[in-house]
Amino acid sequence: MKAVRRFTVRAVLPESLGSVGVLAANLRWSWHKPTRDLFRDIDPDVWRQLGHDPVGLLGEVAPERLAELGNDQSFVDRANALAHDLHTYLTEPRWYQSLHDAPASIAYFSPEYGIAAALPQYSGGLGILAGDHLKSASDLGVPLVAIGLYYRAGYFRQAIGNDGWQRETYPVSDPDGLPMKLLRAADGSPELVSLALPAGRVVHARVWILSVGRVTQLLLDTDIHDNADDLRGVTDRLYGGGGEHRLLQELLLGIGGVRAIKAFSRLTGAPLPEVYHTNEGHAGFLGLERIAGLIAEGLSFAEALRVIRAATVFTTHTPVPAGIDRFPMEYIDRYFGTDLLPGVTVDDIKSLGHEAGDDTIFNMAHMGLRLAQRANGVSQLHGEVSRGMFGELWPGMDTEEVPITSVTNGVHAATWTDVRMQALAERVFGSSDTTTVNWADGALTDGDLWEVRGAMRAKLVRDARDRAIASFQEENPGSPVPSWMNNLLDPNALTIGFARRVPTYKRLTLMLSNPERLKTILTNTERPVQFVIAGKSHPADDAGKALIQKLVQFSQDYDVRERIVFLPNYDMAMARHLYPGTDVWLNNPLRPLEACGTSGMKAALNGSLNLSILDGWWNEYFDGDNGWAIPTADAAGDDAQRDALEAEALYDLIEHQVAATFYELDGNGLPGKWLAKIRHTLATLSPELSADRMVKEYVNRLYLPAAKAGREFSDKDFQNARQLAGWVANITANW
Ligand SMILES: *Cc1c(COP(=O)(O)O)cnc(C)c1O
Repeated sequence: MKAVRRFTVRAVLPESLGSVGVLAANLRWSWHKPTRDLFRDIDPDVWRQLGHDPVGLLGEVAPERLAELGNDQSFVDRANALAHDLHTYLTEPRWYQSLHDAPASIAYFSPEYGIAAALPQYSGGLGILAGDHLKSASDLGVPLVAIGLYYRAGYFRQAIGNDGWQRETYPVSDPDGLPMKLLRAADGSPELVSLALPAGRVVHARVWILSVGRVTQLLLDTDIHDNADDLRGVTDRLYGGGGEHRLLQELLLGIGGVRAIKAFSRLTGAPLPEVYHTNEGHAGFLGLERIAGLIAEGLSFAEALRVIRAATVFTTHTPVPAGIDRFPMEYIDRYFGTDLLPGVTVDDIKSLGHEAGDDTIFNMAHMGLRLAQRANGVSQLHGEVSRGMFGELWPGMDTEEVPITSVTNGVHAATWTDVRMQALAERVFGSSDTTTVNWADGALTDGDLWEVRGAMRAKLVRDARDRAIASFQEENPGSPVPSWMNNLLDPNALTIGFARRVPTYKRLTLMLSNPERLKTILTNTERPVQFVIAGKSHPADDAGKALIQKLVQFSQDYDVRERIVFLPNYDMAMARHLYPGTDVWLNNPLRPLEACGTSGMKAALNGSLNLSILDGWWNEYFDGDNGWAIPTADAAGDDAQRDALEAEALYDLIEHQVAATFYELDGNGLPGKWLAKIRHTLATLSPELSADRMVKEYVNRLYLPAAKAGREFSDKDFQNARQLAGWVANITANW
């Protein structure tokens, strides 16, 4: 592994630029264009080089330039006005403030967060979704406190060798270069959260505080001198090793996370959460820590369980068994046979986490479900699949009655809608909020819409050429760039995008099922089709890397190399141009293994049409006019046959429907039928796919009822919890 470290100097800003420091300290800049424009104007080159990172920018830019801006009254006024706008945003009543009896704080736990490209603390869909959840919660005024870990090395950077094989490097991030500050005790020293470990050891973590708009984020970090060397590495990287390393990360996230919330509340006066929302099993230990807290207040284990279950929400994000954390039961004996959770016995813990049907395995998802009275999947179909998959936890219950509902994911529109689309909405409808304007309104002309779509495609083509050339130069230092790379992709050709992590079920190489047929499609001179592809394979997954290699090697073929490209290092920065710039977003997972899928949603918000297997969100939102459904070959004899059948259906759709519609021009010389589909997509899907819709659903359907149930059990010194636990014990004993 190669570590790449960049040290950041915290800039001393001229006094008149105080507002610039305020703006850099709150991550709202990541979805507020006027604030990003301000940072860009400080030094456009550095802004671009550092990948849009305000704190890094202020550390890097020449002091003379800062002094110059400090004396530039119009710049100072602009910064002050933006800081004023931020203050209003942070304090004014928003949607949540109109609700009655709503909790003053809700805790949200996730192992990863994708908030901005400059903060690479995510690996894929779950992290990006968590970032979008926080941003929409902020916009709606939902008082979340979000808990996570601060990873010294976030997810890896991917390079692709000339032979097509993926290489990983782990850029190390420097906490001083990020918009975060330490939680400090009253005497100014860093507040530490501590967990007892086997053999009398202890692991400590400091707590970083970040502001994501109105949402507070707390990230735990073990890389401090107080820890033994091996324990400093607990938060070394996202989803690092397996086994005990993973268990330590999860103990820290769940148990340490609750302790961090309590310390934060004690030191700052922030209200304690009434509801706890845990995403995937990783943070499940939080429930045990809360039980221990109530036992310390005098409740029994059974009573405490009633109270915390009532106020816990568990969201499952995957129907793929490999996505669920499972530990050998010996780990539980070892790690909980300590002072870690006073008052909670190892047997109690096992009763909550043993895998249904296998007592030697501790299953984090099963524990998550037993600790949460409310649970959900992330699309309607995924809810249905989850009810089947976890049904054994509710023996004797019909699958339809299993209490797992669904809230379909959404995406944060201000983050994922291209600035050109926002500007178009502003110009035509007077509002840049693309999820609330009426896209069906005749005020929007076909010409305007097509022009913006073309501009976004051209931007993607430029970005793809830059990336392909940069990758060539990295792999072949000193060699001249082949001239054909300057003609890579055609800014006017039908562009299909496909980017995702590379686990087998996503079927990266389905399109290569019949290479000759794909070649014919790519090289069609009348109706050319081109592909932009990206995706990372897990570092330990050689099968995934082999799929990438197969694709890269295909794309190097002389006949097609200008028409199909694999771009290395799929991340948020690439994604922002990729979704808007593609005409069609392709998704071909093995149904029903895609829980929701959010990249297609981001594409749709930009007027890109989906071409997808009826899985995840597309299963409930495809309506015949907003894109295309690839038929699923459920009757196929085996996997290979299924792939072959579904691939043939895909080729047919691309040739006879997608390309045919795209290249059919009307009397105005525009693809009228295509544009009608775009309008229909924007008008019907934009509000639905917005993370605002998702967060409102979480609040109304899960957080508020959970808060109410939690209060019912906690009020009057836990009277109802005591009574119910006593009643159940009585029934069980006398049955
Ligand atoms: C949205 C997004 C994802 C998740 O997309 P899926 O469709 O759920 O696979 C992964 N990585 C990045 C960078 C994203 O922006």
